[in-house]
Amino acid sequence: MVSSGPTGNRLTVLSGPSGVGKSTVVAELRRSHPEVWLSVSVTTRTPRPGETHGVEYFFVTDEEFDRMVADGELLEWAEFAGNRYGTPRAPVECKLAEGVPTLLEIDLQGARQVRETMPEALLVFLAPPSWEELESRLRGRGTEPEDVIARRLAAGRVELAAEKEFDLSLVNTAVKDVCGRLVALLK
Ligand code: 5GP
Repeated sequence: MVSSGPTGNRLTVLSGPSGVGKSTVVAELRRSHPEVWLSVSVTTRTPRPGETHGVEYFFVTDEEFDRMVADGELLEWAEFAGNRYGTPRAPVECKLAEGVPTLLEIDLQGARQVRETMPEALLVFLAPPSWEELESRLRGRGTEPEDVIARRLAAGRVELAAEKEFDLSLVNTAVKDVCGRLVALLK
């Protein structure tokens, strides 16, 4: 039994369409609510400037990722935009057993796997205030070619349709509000 600890804390998963602002919410949570434990994923992508091994991610080689999958060390994993991402199982089990509020910030494929393997987990969908808002975020600075933008928008529409698979939705109006509501759910 890994989805809830002795104090009744259960695993909470934050997911949602790409571009909705998940990582901004998580960065704010890390700053303002250090009592919440955020799972640190492993990834095969290269670090961005300012990212630290062990903080945002554990950056691993393809070989190491293969080994972790083969040895059953990942709770879930998915390929996203050409890189692989996964949640190390042992630290999550440990924190839940200790009764620490525990949050995973993962993509939709990962959230679906958690739904299968841990039915008690609380799945939270971070929704954009409107389709227009997500569209403008996905379009970014408008420097990309139209076919790339069209692909992102098509993916965004499919991702938005996943909302109904989740236990509840939080609309990403203001980052601090979302954090407050998320923390209330975690405790
Ligand atoms: P980024 O490369 O921008 O940090 O993350 C890309 C995507 O990977 C985001 O949608 C993020 O939620 C997702 N992601 C990060 N860690 C994990 C993980 O451990 N598992 C899964 N399934 N997705 C993850």
